[in-house]
Amino acid sequence: MNNIFFCRVVHYRMARVDCLKKIVLFLVVIIITIFSFQNSTTRLEFPLYRVVLDPGHGGKATLPKDMYGDRFDVLSMKYLDVYREGASYKNYHEHIYTYELAKRVEAILQLLSPDGNFEKFYTILQKYTDKPVKRVNIQVFMSRGPSLHSHPIHNESNAPYRLFDFIGNDGTLKEGRISCINSRKPHLVVTIHFALNSSPYFRGMNAVIAAPYSILYKGLQYLQGTIADRSFFYSSRYADWFTEDERKSEFFWYCNDVMMYFTGYRIKNDYSINTDEFRGYRYNMVKWAFNDTPGWAHIAKHHPNNTLYAQDIQQFVPQNAFFTREQSKYEQYRREGGFEGYGGDNLYASNEIIRFVLYNLYSKGIRHKDQRLAPPYISIWSVPLHINAINAFIEFGYLARPYTRNIINNHLDDVAEGIAVGIYSLFAGVEVAKKYPCKPYGKKIDLEKYTIDKNKDYFTIVR
Ligand SMILES: [Zn+2]
Repeated sequence: MNNIFFCRVVHYRMARVDCLKKIVLFLVVIIITIFSFQNSTTRLEFPLYRVVLDPGHGGKATLPKDMYGDRFDVLSMKYLDVYREGASYKNYHEHIYTYELAKRVEAILQLLSPDGNFEKFYTILQKYTDKPVKRVNIQVFMSRGPSLHSHPIHNESNAPYRLFDFIGNDGTLKEGRISCINSRKPHLVVTIHFALNSSPYFRGMNAVIAAPYSILYKGLQYLQGTIADRSFFYSSRYADWFTEDERKSEFFWYCNDVMMYFTGYRIKNDYSINTDEFRGYRYNMVKWAFNDTPGWAHIAKHHPNNTLYAQDIQQFVPQNAFFTREQSKYEQYRREGGFEGYGGDNLYASNEIIRFVLYNLYSKGIRHKDQRLAPPYISIWSVPLHINAINAFIEFGYLARPYTRNIINNHLDDVAEGIAVGIYSLFAGVEVAKKYPCKPYGKKIDLEKYTIDKNKDYFTIVR
């Protein structure tokens, strides 16, 4: 409201009105002033952020796949994948520790709920910074409950853990974890994993990121023959591509993933489309605002040319709600550029949480060559590609490595605290005090750029 203009109008009128009108006008001005003041303070003082903690895995890779699998495809009405139960080394099971860690982070973040004990969180923060800190509110959710591995297996036992939607025993569509995450409309999703082992190059703690559309689209042009030179890939920040099998090159796996991302099919050894290896239209395997229009499956099963269901790569056209979203500026913010120089807010959020975890471990006097921020795993991962939230997706270590098992046995609370403070810092910023080998940037993410208009933002439109 323009207060100067308003006051002038008030003065102009006051010269003419009688005493009663003066009083009425005076009261109106007072009421409007009080009302607008209250409105601005309640809106600005303690912003509320929604965070989903997403501990990986939980179900069991039981056969037959047709009963226990994941990645349900409505074209074949079958699961395309066995359930991914996660890594195990001796008695160390990934699904147990991802959940344990998430529960401990949840307990700390609940101090930041609107009726939480901020003073207690403040005493934690004082270990990290000597600068003034801001109050923010966080509403925290979990994407799954504890694993039920010890329970007797029945054909619905993987139901609470599947990533993708599926048809339940009663014949109706059930929502998987990605759909459930999206129903919370979170600002941030923190996906927690441990892996089995890796080459020395990746050892440490790693972000897991989805490549941006720009690099995936170049791959489509390569597969369609309009680009012949591979240098665009090797000169990009995304050339460290995740390899399923080291007997083939990073470029081969990149092309395989590009083909799956666009057409749903894998590639053959000669880089042509392999129509025997269908991996599904994943953007239609979750419930969100970017599904194809109802009835899409009837069209898709005929794989018509000049559509996104074409099996001939020359006839493939990436045109639907999902690919429009993929090309939006909001997806660039999530996956391209940003504080790290690449990987967008997703890589920054992941690396920043890792840096806070490492900072806390160093502050406890823990040192090891495996204790470092390692390079990200870059591919077309399901979680970051099918949510609108900023996704911190992290491999917190390697179960076959003694260092990680020591952290799990003795320092899980320290890791959880680092994650919780890292999450807080992404919303509020935390300028850390000490100079350990790995220092967080401490910058909050600019969430304003995800605003669409005064009533909605990119996070709320996801479903
Ligand atoms: Zn995992």
